[in-house]
Amino acid sequence: MIAASMPSPIGHALAGVAVAWTADLIPGHRARRTGPEPCAGSWYQRGGGHLTVVCAALAAAPDLDLALMAHRTATHSIGAVLIVALCAAALAAAGRQPIARVTLMCAAAYGSHLLLDWLGADYYPPRGLQLLWPFSREWYISGLDLFRQTARLRIFTRGPMRTNVRAILQELAILVPVLALLWTARTEKLRIKN
Ligand SMILES: [Zn+2]
Repeated sequence: MIAASMPSPIGHALAGVAVAWTADLIPGHRARRTGPEPCAGSWYQRGGGHLTVVCAALAAAPDLDLALMAHRTATHSIGAVLIVALCAAALAAAGRQPIARVTLMCAAAYGSHLLLDWLGADYYPPRGLQLLWPFSREWYISGLDLFRQTARLRIFTRGPMRTNVRAILQELAILVPVLALLWTARTEKLRIKN
């Protein structure tokens, strides 16, 4: 089991929603997912409904590799982003959803995980992620340490708990204002045009 990770699943999920909403600001057909009257819909519908939830899950999903003892390799790469994009496109086509929009939102959400990890602190070698897999096995990291490292072992003991609370608070401080701005832009946009 790997002792530490870069941002928490909470930070990753919020960033996934942020990039999905950003991608969704692009004008065009928004299909059924916001309903016929988006402004009159519930908060859940206005937030993008199931698609936003899927994007949040996709943004946290790369860290499932912790169970495989191959952390930050294939799942943390542009190769994986391409596979997610292909699957999203196929599912959107099958479900008669707007293919380009759904593909972009899902791929961007998954890709946001890579960006956050690249921006995050990582004190355990090999530092970073295998961003260019399968083309290269090089490890990449920005060195900016914008996000704190989180602990994955004994998380209900004092030290790791303190580490994780600090990391999550910092993630919230960075991402919640971004989400608030995007929510405003999004609801304005939906008011004008579905
Ligand atoms: Zn990760």
